[in-house]
Amino acid sequence: MGFATTAIHAGNEADPTTGSVTVPIYQTSTYQQDGLGKHKGFEYARTQNPTRMALERNIAALEGARFGYAFASGMAAIDATMRLIKAGEHVIVSDNTYGGTFRLFTRILQNYNIEFDFVDTSDAGNVEAAIKPNTRMVFVETPTNPVMIVTDLQAVSDVAHRAGARVVCDNTFMSPYLQRPLEFGVDIVVHSTTKYLNGHSDGVGGIVVLNDEEDANWIGFVQNSAGAILSPFDSWLVLRGTKTLALRMEQHDRSGRAVAAFLEEHPKVQKIYYPGSLSHRQHDLAKRQQKGFGGMVAFDVGNLENARTVLESVKLCTLAESLGGVETLISHPATMTHASVLEETRTRLGITDGLVRISVGIEDTDDIIADLDQALEKL
Ligand SMILES: *Cc1c(COP(=O)(O)O)cnc(C)c1O
Repeated sequence: MGFATTAIHAGNEADPTTGSVTVPIYQTSTYQQDGLGKHKGFEYARTQNPTRMALERNIAALEGARFGYAFASGMAAIDATMRLIKAGEHVIVSDNTYGGTFRLFTRILQNYNIEFDFVDTSDAGNVEAAIKPNTRMVFVETPTNPVMIVTDLQAVSDVAHRAGARVVCDNTFMSPYLQRPLEFGVDIVVHSTTKYLNGHSDGVGGIVVLNDEEDANWIGFVQNSAGAILSPFDSWLVLRGTKTLALRMEQHDRSGRAVAAFLEEHPKVQKIYYPGSLSHRQHDLAKRQQKGFGGMVAFDVGNLENARTVLESVKLCTLAESLGGVETLISHPATMTHASVLEETRTRLGITDGLVRISVGIEDTDDIIADLDQALEKL
């Protein structure tokens, strides 16, 4: 079955009691049992909820995975994944990872004697060089936020597997429509469903999908034991969101390319970051492992004053953090999403004061470009 068919049907069986075509929101905390030890497979809603389980089957199918576990946020999903790591073990992480991931690893998990090394994973050689006898996981994000650095998933998986380490990929920026990391040897995929999977900027959630049964059982055990589950209503929203994922991603990708091409030609724009651009140093790699380039585009207008003018002159684009929704969002990484990153790290990564990031939505492409054009005219 094709992706769009799977998106609409996987996990979305008609309700057995009423025939309801959409999976109902099972808003219950517990389930009646027929007798002692006799129940229908549902005991308590932290442990089992049909709406959440439908979503887990749906997204697992979209990533080509056997198992899925939905959480209350992307960070809760990442936190649960890290419970595969024990005290004394070592994890290698993409150095340009999502700020919340960096914060979780360095401010919380490091207190439990888990060792982290942050390296530029766009060169698998750096991963190989960072491997230690106790390395048990390599955690990558590709493309990264906001400068769109791409990691070769197959190369990193090969290096990690030779050392007996699992590979986790945060696939939030691409969605399974544009990139399916498990096909390149990655072991575990995590998402903030808050972004493209839900797609409508109206819910926060996360998911972990994987194939290894032992690891899956452990993540399921953590989900039930620590309890950061996704609510039935939020599960339902994401389940509704993924039905249009293929259509939405096609349009995000189409407009993303058009916006990037417009910005690249604009005299007031000094540099753009978009793997779909021929000027991106990893364009060929992105083309090889992604089905498209998506809707995330960053561009540099030289300094803070210019960035402020653009951000405050746009009318259609909304100034806000987050990404992946139907509406175009525009943000300033240096003072918003990446404010907590050390200035020297920001400079090294290219997150300058003049950098502006857009999450290109699915409005009419011409309207998005016209809005950016009139804002850039003010410079
Ligand atoms: C937003 C985001 C997260 C965190 O997800 P929440 O749902 O906000 O907890 C993790 N990784 C990436 C790449 C993100 O964009």
